Amino acid sequence: MNEIADRLAVVHAQLTAAAARADRAVGEIELVAVSKTHPPEALLAALEAGQCVFGENRVQEARAKIPLLPGRARWHLIGHLQKNKIRHALAAGFELIHGIDSLELARECDRIADETGQFPQVLLEVNVAGEASKFGFSPEKLRAEMEALLALGRLQIEGLMTIPPFAPEAENSRPFFVALRELRDRLQAEFHVPLPRLSMGMSGDFAVAVEEGATLVRVGTAIFGTRRGKAWKPAGDGASFDD
Ligand SMILES: *Cc1c(COP(=O)(O)O)cnc(C)c1O
Repeated sequence: MNEIADRLAVVHAQLTAAAARADRAVGEIELVAVSKTHPPEALLAALEAGQCVFGENRVQEARAKIPLLPGRARWHLIGHLQKNKIRHALAAGFELIHGIDSLELARECDRIADETGQFPQVLLEVNVAGEASKFGFSPEKLRAEMEALLALGRLQIEGLMTIPPFAPEAENSRPFFVALRELRDRLQAEFHVPLPRLSMGMSGDFAVAVEEGATLVRVGTAIFGTRRGKAWKPAGDGASFDD
């Protein structure tokens, strides 16, 4: 698992260089190691190399891994959250939920958090390119629903998240990262709220995202290598983790 430490060092060097190009402090950018599908040993190798924040996209897979890692590991939920998984997600104690992608989901999350006495930190996912296949608010819809979102007393809305269209060249993502930052700036001014966090950039384009203001980058393959197809689950567990 030494290669994980080596790859992490490369990612750190690239993050540092990108921050320097943008005249930003590298300390203001949080690296989320996207560990979905990878076994706990791989996460442990990353943890031992100093990486504390892990991103999982399936609630059940995360809940199986969390007790297997030392308590200093911190967890983000990065993927689409189904309404029927909110309760489990809140119970798992994710530090940040990146993918609140509709007012309906936000309301349900707020309602359950009220029951459990939590104040979850969340990001609003924006479908900047308007792709039919992707989850997320369109920029127009988000502006129209922002007032209602901000009225949800339990949700701590920290900022925005996006997944740009897949592109072979990192530069192709730049306009979408710029659009997310500009939308954030506009929402802050219009609604008089701080939205300090921008989750954007994955293995192929995180350096560009940092240049455009990302405060969280979600990097999987560049740290852990190629993903296996399926969710990780404990040996002998017949349950399907296709949530
Ligand atoms: C899987 C995933 C990533 C990581 O993708 P890589 O290309 O492996 O870095 C980032 N964000 C989300 C939402 C993901 O589902």
